[in-house]
Amino acid sequence: MLTGVVLKAFNSFYYIKQEQGVTVCKLRGRFKQERYSLAVGDRVEYDLLDDETGIIEKILPRQSVLKRPLVANVDQVILTFAAASPNLHPLLLDRFLVLAEYSKLKNILICINKIELADLVLLEKTLQPYYEIGYKIIKVSAKENIGMLELKNHLKDKISVFAGPSGVGKSTLLNAIEPGLNLATGVISTKIKRGKHTTRVAELLPLAQGGFVVDTPGFSSTEFDYIQKTDLEDYFVEFRPYMDTCKYNTCIHDVEPACSVKQAVLDKKISQVRYDAYLNILHEIQSKKKGF
Ligand code: GDP
Ligand code: ZN
Repeated sequence: MLTGVVLKAFNSFYYIKQEQGVTVCKLRGRFKQERYSLAVGDRVEYDLLDDETGIIEKILPRQSVLKRPLVANVDQVILTFAAASPNLHPLLLDRFLVLAEYSKLKNILICINKIELADLVLLEKTLQPYYEIGYKIIKVSAKENIGMLELKNHLKDKISVFAGPSGVGKSTLLNAIEPGLNLATGVISTKIKRGKHTTRVAELLPLAQGGFVVDTPGFSSTEFDYIQKTDLEDYFVEFRPYMDTCKYNTCIHDVEPACSVKQAVLDKKISQVRYDAYLNILHEIQSKKKGF
């Protein structure tokens, strides 16, 4: 039995990456009866047939599943933003952080691209709250080849998904790391590539150094529709030491009295910017729910 990773699925064929290359496989019939949906990123065991194609006999247990796009065993998300053009809006970063935490992605790396355009003092000030929370941040420039080795090292032997607003340079970064990928770049091509309502099936792109990147950005803001207002606190990780000591156990840290989270903001243990982002997203969730 051989093992490999599902790179893509096409018309009930699965492209399995193993050490030597890629094998096209079919799924053993019984999986179909079980309606088991094999996802990109799944690790499988398969037998090789005489014609060099394979038949998948076993799907190894999943470590994690990202739902949109559907990818199994994602090791990390690289939240990519630009220092400028487009400007770095902390609220947007907070929204992506919420989506990443909600998706239970264990490793979150914040990657700030286009740093050659940045006012570095201002950038550090903006990023300060995120350093304090403990998020890992790297600063790169695809254009000026700054920090690219560090980014590349983070991708080694992992399944990574890039997420972030369009135009920040996600495709450019990937092309710089793996020129063979030849991803279309530039805002216009991006729009053609991913029409607003087309749901794309994700594909894993193998990196020469080992590891994979998902070819399509992770998450979409529709995900907020699934987040309950009482759960939002869980996705602001720095609230955790305080949120269970509020006077009311139903406290959502908004207008309630004797709220430990609000006290922590006053005591400067939680950043005001982050708390404001929490309220902003909370109120958005509340207004949407009322709309139904
Ligand atoms: P994506 O939508 O996130 O995939 O962004 P793209 O990779 O398509 O890049 C958007 C634009 O930003 C393109 O015009 C790139 O040439 C440009 N860009 C990418 N990286 C850098 C960088 O490090 N510095 C500057 N100044 N521009 C960059
Ligand atoms: Zn509270």
